[in-house]
Amino acid sequence: EKRAFGRLKRLPAQLQSGEDIELSANLELPAEMPMLMRNGAKGIGLLRSEFLFGEREDLPDEDGQTEAYRAIVQAMDGRPVTIRVLDWGGEKGRACMRRLGLAEQVADGDNPALGLRGVRLLLRVPEVLETQFAAILRAAEPAEGVPPGRVRILLPMVTSSDEIVDAREIYDRVVRRLKRKGHKLPDPLPPLGIMVETPAAALTVDTLARHADFMALGTNDLTMYTLAVDRADSMVADRYSPLHPGVLRLIAASADSALRARRPISVCGEMASDPRVVALLIGLGLRSFSMNSASLPRVKRLIRTLTLEDCDQLRRQVMLETDPVVIRDLVRQFAT
Ligand code: PEP
Ligand code: MG
Repeated sequence: EKRAFGRLKRLPAQLQSGEDIELSANLELPAEMPMLMRNGAKGIGLLRSEFLFGEREDLPDEDGQTEAYRAIVQAMDGRPVTIRVLDWGGEKGRACMRRLGLAEQVADGDNPALGLRGVRLLLRVPEVLETQFAAILRAAEPAEGVPPGRVRILLPMVTSSDEIVDAREIYDRVVRRLKRKGHKLPDPLPPLGIMVETPAAALTVDTLARHADFMALGTNDLTMYTLAVDRADSMVADRYSPLHPGVLRLIAASADSALRARRPISVCGEMASDPRVVALLIGLGLRSFSMNSASLPRVKRLIRTLTLEDCDQLRRQVMLETDPVVIRDLVRQFAT
């Protein structure tokens, strides 16, 4: 099987009917880079930047962050790298914020998942966002002897357009500052996109698209917020299902709206690491997926055996059903 996967790495991620499918990798730690390369990722669809902030007593400075991003961008050798700015929130964010002396930003609500998370938190401490934007822009600077980095920037936990507008204002300010200091920034600048991982965002992709350059569906959080189920809560974990028709309809609506608004959209939640679920998502109109590197070969192997009509047929069957358990069985039986 290992040898077969080795050959697969060089083959295109393409349906039997000819459509190209983009298969990228999620990256949580730089240590995952070798596996990402081995498994032939088209790019990094989601670089979770939390690892830079994790166990420290202070915030990582601009130079330190620049080095970390640059190492990854250059290792990717011209392939796209989508860097998500800090997505702290919930309990983890609370503890880190306190340790970093930002305790006054942290209220003690009972519902951290519904509190100061992702972009909301970043807009409350704009100096953190500014530093991160600057480091990402510098990591994307054209350099001698390496292909230009194709970097994109992703905002987490967006629920409305004012958050994108405010973040972009900060982004523009950082760009002006770096230019004044003589930095040779990439042209065009890295696009600024959003995670679609709340029901509000999924239902308003058409309007958010006026402010965001691209979209990434975060189906982990989208599932949690749509079903009001915390996966980490063992009392309800069995009700956590990205195949719930409510979640699938939000995904379908997001894909349609993004297509109509001519904005690229990808899926980077865990559901994209299941090959049969990817087939369903292709049926729903999606063409770009980012997943943990280990899943790349299995996903590629299955999609190379399928036609668009196969995926569309699965979609038609699934979207008629209302019971998540029945849907799960339909997906499981597909292409066996
Ligand atoms: C998601 O929510 O689906 C996602 C990709 O982001 P994370 O898992 O990092 O919250
Ligand atoms: Mg998320």
